[in-house]
Amino acid sequence: MENKISALEQFDKQFNRLLQQGAKKLDPFVLLLNPNFKVKDDFVKTPYLAAIMGLTHGNEIIGITVLTELMNLFAEKIVCFDLPLIISLNNLEAYANNSRFISFDFNRLYGRIDRSLSNYETSRSIAIQSHLEKVGFALDLHQTQLPLMHKGPFWPALESKEVINAIKFIDPYATIVKTPPKSSNDLKNGVSCDNFMFLNQKIGITAELGTRGFDSYQKSYGLEICLRFLSLVQAKYHEKTIENSFQGQEYHTFKTLLNENGLVLDSKLRTFFHLKKGDIVGRYQDGSLLTAEQDCYALFPKIDSQVQKDSKDPLGYLMA
Ligand SMILES: [Zn+2]
Repeated sequence: MENKISALEQFDKQFNRLLQQGAKKLDPFVLLLNPNFKVKDDFVKTPYLAAIMGLTHGNEIIGITVLTELMNLFAEKIVCFDLPLIISLNNLEAYANNSRFISFDFNRLYGRIDRSLSNYETSRSIAIQSHLEKVGFALDLHQTQLPLMHKGPFWPALESKEVINAIKFIDPYATIVKTPPKSSNDLKNGVSCDNFMFLNQKIGITAELGTRGFDSYQKSYGLEICLRFLSLVQAKYHEKTIENSFQGQEYHTFKTLLNENGLVLDSKLRTFFHLKKGDIVGRYQDGSLLTAEQDCYALFPKIDSQVQKDSKDPLGYLMA
């Protein structure tokens, strides 16, 4: 717990240093760097240009240390980024509560129309969304709820050429797991940040840095991708092409297996394990089998009922 408090204090320290250097506080734990920059005509609908966010899920804490270090680089003038940029920690109450979320999964609230103002998460999501509406590019830093057999990181990406090219620009060796986007009909029920951006014809990127917790590798990788993301934003703003030939792996759309109570996944399953139609995925408590309905990839090796709050959520989405 002390570690967590000091992490937030370090974040605050860099946050305040940047405020003294002319950055603007938009909301608690939401900073706008270079607030006086006037974007060119093509970008007037996205005057804040870009956002990097952490703590969308309160127990995925690596975003705090990554963003603290990023702000330190700005404050020390080691990294010079002169375009508007939002840096945000999203769900502080869930962080204090050591949980993914309290009442609502923050990453399923964007666009949702029935958000009550009486709840911290819903009102906070309205505030964050109002800032996101002013950016063209968003990077959301996550960790997985469960240990990965695959030693992360990986990138769950909507099936959008622009998003996938952006990820490959950031990390040419990225492991990309493609997921189908929800449609604009789903927007009113709430979607994730990257899906919200997608439905607004913008670039939203989710990075899974690894299993949750403080971790020095994840911190350095996280910082690296933030800097590459900023390079991407600069390139896009200055109309440079990012198309290139890339290496790395792409895993195609995975089947969204529903997590149902009493299901035990097959112990030989590994993250990104390729399943063929008919393969046994797991076994229910009553002995019946769950089999793959189509060729797909398994995303996680096991289920931990403690982290499951919404049993209707697809396995692959839920754990990240
Ligand atoms: Zn997450």
